[in-house]
Amino acid sequence: MKKTINRKRGVCCSFCGKSPGKTNFIISGPDVYICDECVFNAKELIKNNFTTRTTSRRKILKPALIKKEIDSYVIGQEQAKKILSVAVYSHYKRINSGILMDDDVEIEKSNILLIGPTGTGKTLLARTLSRFLQVPFSISDATALTEAGYVGEDVENILVRLLQAADYDLKKAERGIVYIDEFDKIARKEANVSITRDVSGEGVQQALLKIFEGTVSSIPPKGGRKHPEQSFININTKNILFICGGTFEGLDEIILKRIGEGSIGFKSIPKSKRYSNIGEILKQVQPEDLLKFGLIPEIVGRLPVVAALDDLDKKVLLDILSKPKNAILKQYKKLFEIEGIKLKFTDDVLNEITDITMKRKMGARGLRSVIEDIMLDIMFKTPSMKGVKECVINKDVLINKAEPVFVLKRIKKGA
Ligand code: ADP
Repeated sequence: MKKTINRKRGVCCSFCGKSPGKTNFIISGPDVYICDECVFNAKELIKNNFTTRTTSRRKILKPALIKKEIDSYVIGQEQAKKILSVAVYSHYKRINSGILMDDDVEIEKSNILLIGPTGTGKTLLARTLSRFLQVPFSISDATALTEAGYVGEDVENILVRLLQAADYDLKKAERGIVYIDEFDKIARKEANVSITRDVSGEGVQQALLKIFEGTVSSIPPKGGRKHPEQSFININTKNILFICGGTFEGLDEIILKRIGEGSIGFKSIPKSKRYSNIGEILKQVQPEDLLKFGLIPEIVGRLPVVAALDDLDKKVLLDILSKPKNAILKQYKKLFEIEGIKLKFTDDVLNEITDITMKRKMGARGLRSVIEDIMLDIMFKTPSMKGVKECVINKDVLINKAEPVFVLKRIKKGA
């Protein structure tokens, strides 16, 4: 098609019939015209079609390939990555093959529970999966949820958020992934009963049950109860994958108690020596431990895949700084590269960054704040400096707030 802009009178879009006065421009081809709006719509149509096709193609990636994709973003957590890869493979295979309601064997939905210390990659794992599967992804916080009728957010708002993440494309939303954070906070607690807020958690667990197992839920597309006039949308949750994550503080004690009681001589080993990593304990979790923690049996049954995450040690933290595709150091280096400056971090400063992060006990989340502290002044000053070709950040910059080492470009004689 010849791409010329034709503003002649009398010409109108061959697709929607609009005349030039009603569009920004019209492109003419041999005996055919198309307006900018139709070009845009056609592009969206092709994009959506392509995405749907690639999504289904990607969905049948074998577990080993799914893990390889996750490896580019998530460091360590080998067992959790394996468990997730298999669960996601089974989930989308079950959807694609349409054996959902087979007469003899019903393959159950494999919603996932991720247990592990804060900042170890639970949300990142879920987000990474959704990104390469190209399915909508939303995050909700379980602490904000209450049972209908109480003060707080309705459980259905989880689905509203997913629909919004899917740009209101219902079909896409119905194959999406929902991450529910702080899931441990809705464990049943006998104390603290309030009449306005369901703090016992059990009501929320009951409300979540239905959407976890698969139901048609009527949701207000804008969410909340503030827009009573809006018409409701029916969303089917049977193919939505729910991934719940939480730190489950105290669960390790419950597991240790169970194991300890059954194993001879276990109690004689000092607690600190039994396991070097809390993840090692959490990996031995059994449904009965989750029940003791305060999850109701039905919800434990709806989360058949459980993966425990490891505490991040120094080596993993060092790798997280530089290895993931979008590693924080890579991002800063790129920003400086745009200014024509090579940014370098010495090994001693990287060691110090990870040591500080480990002390803060925020997992890898702490890395960013330590680095941002170092980088703020440097990012402020450097763009106004002339002739810098290299900026080296060493331990002194972090500990003593010293200036980084700036290497200047050689100025040619006579210049
Ligand atoms: P949580 O386990 O509390 O959900 P997140 O997944 O939100 O933690 O992690 C916070 C941030 O820390 C992530 O955005 C990511 O930058 C980094 N991070 C955490 N764990 C890892 C990991 N295993 N590999 C790479 N980055 C990680």
